[in-house]
Amino acid sequence: PDSAQSTATILARRERLLGPNMTTFYDTPVHLVRGEGAWVWDADGNRLLDCYNNVPHVGHAHPKVVEAITKQALTLNTHTRYLHEGILDYADRLTATMRHDLSAMIMVCTGSEANDIALRMARALTGKTGIIGTDNTYHGNTDLVSHLSAKKTPIGGHVDWVKKVPAPDNLRPLGGSDDTHAQAFADGIQSAIDELEASGHGFSALILDPFFANEGCPTLPKGFLEPAVEVVRRAGGVIIADEVQPGFGRTGYDFWGHERIGLVPDIVTMGKPMGNGHPVAGVVARPEILAQFRNAFGYFNTFGGNPVSAAAANAVLDVLEEEDLVENARDTGDYTLNLLRQIDHPMIADVRGSGMFLGMEFVADPALTPTADFTAQLVEEMRNRGVLLHSMGREYHAIKIRPPMCFNRTQADFLIDTLASALKEIPA
Ligand code: PMP
Repeated sequence: PDSAQSTATILARRERLLGPNMTTFYDTPVHLVRGEGAWVWDADGNRLLDCYNNVPHVGHAHPKVVEAITKQALTLNTHTRYLHEGILDYADRLTATMRHDLSAMIMVCTGSEANDIALRMARALTGKTGIIGTDNTYHGNTDLVSHLSAKKTPIGGHVDWVKKVPAPDNLRPLGGSDDTHAQAFADGIQSAIDELEASGHGFSALILDPFFANEGCPTLPKGFLEPAVEVVRRAGGVIIADEVQPGFGRTGYDFWGHERIGLVPDIVTMGKPMGNGHPVAGVVARPEILAQFRNAFGYFNTFGGNPVSAAAANAVLDVLEEEDLVENARDTGDYTLNLLRQIDHPMIADVRGSGMFLGMEFVADPALTPTADFTAQLVEEMRNRGVLLHSMGREYHAIKIRPPMCFNRTQADFLIDTLASALKEIPA
């Protein structure tokens, strides 16, 4: 069958077998069959540059990770009530990348589970239930976490134990200027804490992505979160850093997003890149927080940190080290950022990011009106020219460039040339 026909057949099967309303990317969804490094191939044999997918962190189908998974699967895989060194070796190595007191972890299977646990840890620790997050974020899809993520109104309406505060935005700083931005963010949190205390729920946790990835990865100075942290500490709350997107060296200069901004969290959650595509995620915290969580809830996870998952996650750390991929993210990121900044177009309002996490924001006019239509057209045009990237930000008006950590300068040149020519194609 020709490719249009096979796409139509797959879409029809998806609808029949997986149910209606499943999301896909692009007007004509991409049907991928193979990947290697930062490249992927579709069913027609077209090669596309993957500049978006943060799951294959060290590169698609990395042989070292595949080998580790295969070797362990050929030896043993079982649930996590038996003793096995794999999970311990991993926890040892992973916690060594963090501050000394963040020294114990729970391994799970998805970022959603990790955040669900983190929020319940905060509740166990404080004895209170109120949660504060930012207003345009996504933290996952369990019942608890979806109250923070939902763009749709939950059935039964919004719960009053979740408060959302305005997220930072470097082009539209809170309070009106760079000088007021950090304090205004903290003031939003203080008001939310006051409301939670007044309603009787009390305040347990502030959860945020320290890179604010879903909010468009605004450029923020180190220390930006200090006033916010002060407000949370004064109220006895817990700080949760969701590292699902910026973690594992993605931003090039720091292994963790919280380090990058100078945040000292109580709990750190992680997922997506951790197993290079194998479903493994984690929660790192001080041991007494883990103890209190288990006392309050009990906890068992059949698959979390099983021998195969641990092997995948260990192999990702091996490859990051052996191939100097954090340094590569920094060097190639700086190189790409510099080229992005040289692209001249009247609607580019900002170019930002770090390492293998870059963004370009488009606006329609000097009043900085976001341009979702233009950005959506650009995303399609890029796909048609062989580059996969996508939109981000409050109005989906910025592009997110987030390739695997092995992205190189030749690929960056291809991205930039493609972007420059695609921008000429779309009416401004
Ligand atoms: N946190 C953040 C910041 C995310 O971006 C996501 C996924 N997009 C999640 C949590 C949820 O992770 P998962 O899909 O593995 O449950």
